[in-house]
Amino acid sequence: MNRMNNYKFLDVATRIVVTITLLLFFLAVFNCNSLYVYAMNAVTVTDNNSSNEAQNVNTTESVAVDNANTTETAVTDTGILTSPMNVKTVKEKKYVKLSWDKVEGAYKYHIYRKATTSEDDSDEEFELTGDTKKLSYKDKDVEAGNLYEYYVTAVSEDEAKVSTPSEVAYYFMEPQSFEVASSFTDKNKIKLTWKEVPAARKYVIYRKNTSGKYIKLSETSKKKYLDDSVRKGKTYKYKVSYIVNLSNGNVIEKESKVHTVTANTIDPNKKMVALTFDDGPGRYTQEIVDCLKKNDARATFFVVGSNLNSYKSAVKNAYKIGCEIGNHSYNHANLAQLSAQGVAKQMSDTDARIKKITGSNSVIMRCPYGSTSKTVSSAVGKPIILWSVDTLDWKTRNTDKTISCVMNKVKDGDIVLMHDIHEPTKRAALYLIPQLKKKGYQLVTVSELAKYRGYKLNKGSVYHSLRKKK
Ligand code: ZN
Repeated sequence: MNRMNNYKFLDVATRIVVTITLLLFFLAVFNCNSLYVYAMNAVTVTDNNSSNEAQNVNTTESVAVDNANTTETAVTDTGILTSPMNVKTVKEKKYVKLSWDKVEGAYKYHIYRKATTSEDDSDEEFELTGDTKKLSYKDKDVEAGNLYEYYVTAVSEDEAKVSTPSEVAYYFMEPQSFEVASSFTDKNKIKLTWKEVPAARKYVIYRKNTSGKYIKLSETSKKKYLDDSVRKGKTYKYKVSYIVNLSNGNVIEKESKVHTVTANTIDPNKKMVALTFDDGPGRYTQEIVDCLKKNDARATFFVVGSNLNSYKSAVKNAYKIGCEIGNHSYNHANLAQLSAQGVAKQMSDTDARIKKITGSNSVIMRCPYGSTSKTVSSAVGKPIILWSVDTLDWKTRNTDKTISCVMNKVKDGDIVLMHDIHEPTKRAALYLIPQLKKKGYQLVTVSELAKYRGYKLNKGSVYHSLRKKK
């Protein structure tokens, strides 16, 4: 019996233990007793979960509980912020505006920028450039010619969570203009120069070949190029493009306008004169061209459209040595007596033939008889070039008189009127060309004279001489 009692006692003790265990279990399940919370606090800390249990233990002051104090942040707490999508750039006034799609759970966004500017002060890496709570950002620290690349990250309020970077978006602030300038060096080279495009790391130089294609000559990181494969008197066309490299390996390539240059040495400080020959081309034109070529000189031929097909090669040769071909109407009409449409047709018919022979557009014109009017001015579409020395060669048909007229009157900046369809004029020209050179004159085209004397020739305006401006 005694043994039985012992067993009974043990049995009671066991029951107590089981009962307490069950009680604790119930407490754990229903979580309604702070005693349990103390007992299980360590478990909550490591769990760090966002269930109702955690909400309910908010009454205690454990760190773990604070982490999960609201349901809103509880969502982001467990997740990660996704990267901003659809990052776009657009130019607005003087700044670059970025925009992107909202990231769920993001409190703000960080904008990182990499600026490609002139070689020395370019940012090497993306750098934090600003932040915003909005879905757009204005970058006002931008300048023409620079490349700007951006990425955006989504950030939580305490900055503890940051998304991976968005894809890179870029904006290239195109320079206002990209033009090529040139000079012909005394070493028979054409020197091309251009303004630096700060973001550009490379420039590519193209030259038009005889079949009309632009062939790559070279590339450089400098702002100049020397073309030493040029022939004196010959005209060349160039294009230069700049290359901007994006971080993703892509490139932006933009071309300059075509730049035309003739391999001539013109000294702006020396005297110059423009000999002009009207009413051709004719049977004497080629001889005059040969003389010009021999003397490293050039002239301007104001051609009549209807004559062109008979003397194509003379015109082509004149153009090749750097002479200028101007428009002198199609059939030597008195343009002042024509309608605007009539004037335009006289011009366009001749222009088409000139272009066919030389490959270039004629940029100046001379009215037959020097006869002009308001209608002519508005319809010709080119500067009207008249003259300052009238040899009257068509009237006198006298070689000596033509020569003496020119030699007596000529001054720097003069435009001399002659006609290459008359034999005495041809003979005068063959004398005048070397003689004027001896007297220190550079024989240039009208457009060259305008360029070196600082004139921008305007369409419809009349020019008699192109003297040095005071
Ligand atoms: Zn004429």
